Amino acid sequence: MNELQREFLDIVSQVTAHLEYQKVLGVSVLEEVSTGSAPAARSKGQPMAAAKVQETAAAQQPGTPSSQVLIAIREELGECTRCVLHKGRKTIVFGEGNPHAALVFVGEGPGHEEDLQGRPFVGEAGQLLTDIIVKGMQIAREDVYICNVVKCRPPENRNPELDEIEACGPFLRKQLKAIAPKVIVTLGNVPTKMLLNTKEGITKLRGNWQTYEGIPVMPTFHPAYLLRSPGEKKKVWEDIQQVMVRLGMAVPGKK
Ligand code: URA
Repeated sequence: MNELQREFLDIVSQVTAHLEYQKVLGVSVLEEVSTGSAPAARSKGQPMAAAKVQETAAAQQPGTPSSQVLIAIREELGECTRCVLHKGRKTIVFGEGNPHAALVFVGEGPGHEEDLQGRPFVGEAGQLLTDIIVKGMQIAREDVYICNVVKCRPPENRNPELDEIEACGPFLRKQLKAIAPKVIVTLGNVPTKMLLNTKEGITKLRGNWQTYEGIPVMPTFHPAYLLRSPGEKKKVWEDIQQVMVRLGMAVPGKK
């Protein structure tokens, strides 16, 4: 097989994986996407501020699309000063991805790069998480949702304290309720202990299905830990394969 044929097969396999994941999301018809249009909720000529107020009010109604609920949760968070972490932050890192994601990854809290960019998992550990999603699962990063327990960077990347987790936790819970994913993957001790309300450590829990509010949870190691202990990557891949099977996705290399 020549280079061109290999590239073609690679593209076919990525498109197939993407379509499979769309099926997991419940998408049965692909629509043409027009670029550069205004948000759907905003009618022609309507100022953005008015549209925002409508979105926020609408988000409180049952049956409101999860994208609008997430906007309302972000607005409720505001320029948060609920705990001391606000003092050292540059940017609040709320979370990003598909508001209808079947899969949500929950990390601990933003690091230096995330604090600068206002996006979760964009530093070195983030690159590894992105590789797990894109190269491992063969889906686009934008198709999942990624967020953290605390939305502001803890100083020196220390673990968030209990009072900080308690202040920020309700926002994570609301995000998860709005998205209602089919599976949650908790990355490391902090999100695992918080969502599962357990003192059990990640080494014991990883690889074993748990439940949060009726949603299956797969705890696994944090990518930052994998950077320090690359020998553990195989275990994370095994955990992710379990997630793919649960989501009805084909696992590369497995029948
Ligand atoms: N580590 C985390 O837990 N979250 C991030 O967003 C980045 C690094």
